Amino acid sequence: MNLLTEKTVIIGAGISGLYLAQLLSAKGENPLILEKSKGLGGRVATRRINDLGLDHGALFLDHHPYLSAYDVINTAKGDYLPGGMNALAKKMSHNLRIMREQKLHKIIPLETDFELETEEGLKIHCKNLILTAPVPQAVELMEKNLLLSEASALRKIQYSKAIILLGILKGDVTSLSSFDFEGHEFNFTRERNLHPHGLVLKLSSALAESVFERSDTDLLSELINVYRRSPLSSWELETFELKKWRFSKPLSLYPAPFAKISAGLYLCGDGFGHPLESAEALAKHL
Ligand SMILES: Cc1cc2nc3c(=O)[nH]c(=O)nc-3n(C[C@H](O)[C@H](O)[C@H](O)COP(=O)(O)OP(=O)(O)OC[C@H]3O[C@@H](n4cnc5c(N)ncnc54)[C@H](O)[C@@H]3O)c2cc1C
Repeated sequence: MNLLTEKTVIIGAGISGLYLAQLLSAKGENPLILEKSKGLGGRVATRRINDLGLDHGALFLDHHPYLSAYDVINTAKGDYLPGGMNALAKKMSHNLRIMREQKLHKIIPLETDFELETEEGLKIHCKNLILTAPVPQAVELMEKNLLLSEASALRKIQYSKAIILLGILKGDVTSLSSFDFEGHEFNFTRERNLHPHGLVLKLSSALAESVFERSDTDLLSELINVYRRSPLSSWELETFELKKWRFSKPLSLYPAPFAKISAGLYLCGDGFGHPLESAEALAKHL
């Protein structure tokens, strides 16, 4: 079994974890990021279909001055990257130490440090451990390892769910604009114009919440029906994919820019405000 010794381990290569690693690197540290997925970016996610990108996580990010360094386009809805949002994560990860496909599951507090173990069998000793997963996921991990008090305010932070159908249509749909359909239950998004044949159909948060546990097959056939009764039905759907997010955006925020659980154990990310501001506040503290 591999055994590493690190000063600081950051869990998650989303924008919070990447930015925090950059800030700590600028202070002369060399933190290690563990990321459970193959890709980088977390909820900033782009699916490549026929070599073109379609965003299915955040289509925009709330503005932060730091994002200007990455050629983002600033709009009233937030900032976005023309080439697909995960280009941001790729650029942010430059020169950082990241181990992908390593899912942290065991945290053992020792006298002055932590022993970590991933599901894949990697073992690490570290002094500082920072969790950047959506708060309920971080809470679950800490609960499993008996690290969180019953009274912790972190338990109150809930997230909205998201369900999205990514579709590739037969024909060029560049001229289409975005619109809501059937009240505000569905939104067809074309505004990002990434893919000349691509379309994103997003359910309202209320609808996503109520149907989230239904099977993917069920949801897919329902969404195809929505598409068929929409004004777009004359365009044939060539391929489509369902994307679901159990934790999309926080419904309320923790009342501080990061949380300290115990000496060396911290949480930051979008449950604490703007994910980049949260990372900044924690980097200043460490
Ligand atoms: C559909 C959708 C629409 C959105 N729209 C907007 C919007 O319009 N505007 C806006 O500002 N924001 C939006 N957001 C929210 C935005 O994406 C997030 O605020 C931001 O990406 C959070 O980044 P983060 O790094 O804090 O968390 P994440 O991106 O969630 O990163 C956490 C990372 O930790 C990894 N991880 C979790 N557990 C473990 C573990 N045990 N071991 C190893 N790795 C682990 C995850 O794989 C992930 O990569 C949207 C999100 C979604 C899903």
